[in-house]
Amino acid sequence: MLALTARSLYTPLEQIDRPLVVVEDGVVVTVGSRSDHEIPGKAKLLDFPDNILTPGLVDIHIHGAAGFDVMQADAEGRSRIEKFLATRGVTSYFPTTVTAPIDIILRALEQLADGIERATMDSPRAQPLGIHLEGPFLSHARRGVHPPENLLAPTLANFDRFWQAARGQIRVMTIAPELDGATELIAEATKRGVSISIGHSDADLKAARAGVAAGAHHATHTFNAMRPLDHREPGIIGEVLSNPALTADIIADGIHVHPEVVRLFLQAKGPERAVLITDATAAAGMPDGKYWLGSLEVDVKDGKCLHGGTLAGSVLTLDRAVRNAMKFAAWDLPQVLRTATLNPATVTNAAKKGRIEPGADADLVVLTSDGQVRATITKGVRAGS
Ligand SMILES: [Zn+2]
Repeated sequence: MLALTARSLYTPLEQIDRPLVVVEDGVVVTVGSRSDHEIPGKAKLLDFPDNILTPGLVDIHIHGAAGFDVMQADAEGRSRIEKFLATRGVTSYFPTTVTAPIDIILRALEQLADGIERATMDSPRAQPLGIHLEGPFLSHARRGVHPPENLLAPTLANFDRFWQAARGQIRVMTIAPELDGATELIAEATKRGVSISIGHSDADLKAARAGVAAGAHHATHTFNAMRPLDHREPGIIGEVLSNPALTADIIADGIHVHPEVVRLFLQAKGPERAVLITDATAAAGMPDGKYWLGSLEVDVKDGKCLHGGTLAGSVLTLDRAVRNAMKFAAWDLPQVLRTATLNPATVTNAAKKGRIEPGADADLVVLTSDGQVRATITKGVRAGS
């Protein structure tokens, strides 16, 4: 049994000063104010008098970290990614595939499904909650670095091959809604419990709205790999920013999107509907050099990942995205926290809810008031102890 106390706690919707969190068998059993609750005698006490307790961070778009790519990594590689993520406050993630030759995607999906089904929490590490299939159902015009020869038509038959290989562990899919057949696939995948995110898309307003009507409710790395906003032809970005039924994510590294536009995005979507992602590659947490992104080689220099001169993922970590969002938008920590905990968990309809409450897994982060990670606890186990 573990008891945690701190200066304050964000659930993240509520703030509790001088909180007490009691954890038993990896699960939160008590959340409240210290003045209302006794610390159980048999509990080991972890006291953070100057810090803030928050839910663990949830990254729904990440391709790798610590030198490993999620499509290439074996169990050891995945474990290295997961341990690294825990040091950055991330307790759950959705390993994200990129477009590649179909056999490579199918093999990666099988391996990732293994990792999800056999997730063990022997040591503090981020837990994979489901797969994010980013591609191959993307627009040729807005493919970014996704190889054009491997993009596929969004047919149910194509999707089914991925679904079978992943044994139903696909939980998020990025798709361009304007492609022929996309709305039918969006409707079917939604029925199977996949969260549909529109992105890598050249959709005009009408096509974007058709995707939403079919079941899409989120948008992938807003502004990047999207038809640009035009004030007379608003297109997909006009729909993403103005429709309150849509949540949307953004890469807040200051490279993919200018800080002022990150601010504009956060103001448009608000703390209820914005989500921070990293889109990190294997290079996250590593020095400059050459790394893999699926079957593509990327060059990393001065924190920029490039493939043939085009941005190819990031070296961003989610704790830094939180600090950047606070700076870019002048938002306070509880507002930004929602966008990296509760919101991504809700968007993906994940088994973990991204909040601190009785009955939830004890996935917790101890932060300084400016968002630096002091400690991470996954299912009641503290990283680095
Ligand atoms: Zn990506």
